[in-house]
Amino acid sequence: TSQIDTVWAGKQVYYYNETDSTNIRAKQLGEEGAPHGTLAVADQQNAGRGRRGRGWESPKGCSIYMSILLRPEIPPVKAPMLTLVMALSVAEGLKESTELDVEIKWPNDIVLNGKKLVGILTEMSTEIDYINHVVIGVGINVNMTGLPKELSEKATSLRLETGRIVKRSPIIAAVMRSFEKNYSLFLETQDLEKMQEEYNSLLVNREKEVRILGAKEQYNAYALGVNKEGELLVRRGDGTTEAVFAGEVSVRGV
Ligand code: ATP
Repeated sequence: TSQIDTVWAGKQVYYYNETDSTNIRAKQLGEEGAPHGTLAVADQQNAGRGRRGRGWESPKGCSIYMSILLRPEIPPVKAPMLTLVMALSVAEGLKESTELDVEIKWPNDIVLNGKKLVGILTEMSTEIDYINHVVIGVGINVNMTGLPKELSEKATSLRLETGRIVKRSPIIAAVMRSFEKNYSLFLETQDLEKMQEEYNSLLVNREKEVRILGAKEQYNAYALGVNKEGELLVRRGDGTTEAVFAGEVSVRGV
């Protein structure tokens, strides 16, 4: 990857032809003292991961697998909002570099034509009440021409949607530029106040019926948009409004 025109986000890039997972690499760089904004990028992952121990399909040469190391001076409870800051930045970066109408599926996926194009996985290392570091991993399906059978219905790649081969480095640079901007907006208020409107404007679930899959209950509700804490506001059948926290539920379109 050539130099990225940012101040700190992705200024220092570690590139791997093949690795287990870029989140593991970024975490290790963090433990070795690498600076805020260091980026690990791989051409292939052998153990790409998703949320809740699920896997991330990571074939060689056709996608973006990258993880950024952050050292945010915020209380650990605020770190999950960084996932939404990244989701917005990936959406903006993809729109800028590809001119495609990507949308955000709350909290952390990017979809194109209703299919999953990007996954984001945030992990953090904390001491009792402060953050050592946060790693945000981003997997973007770029030039995959096919997907495993179980994914082919619900996932896609830029190439599958456009029929063209897409260059990866301009996307990485655009996402890093967007993230650098949005991260400083986030630090100003330590919440999503300054990004809420834009995030909601890109939200695929907005003003749609969704199914909330929580540990305790599952129900259908009408999604209104996110609040400044990044929770999804939903209206239930009985007319009450509820804020749903991303760590606790999955959301499906119905
Ligand atoms: P969900 O959409 O089920 O709520 P999630 O956000 O909890 O998913 P992620 O961590 O984003 O899950 O991604 C893991 C899931 O994404 C896997 O269980 C698999 O179904 C799907 N997946 C795996 N690899 C890819 C890929 N390359 N592209 C799109 N989807 C993938």
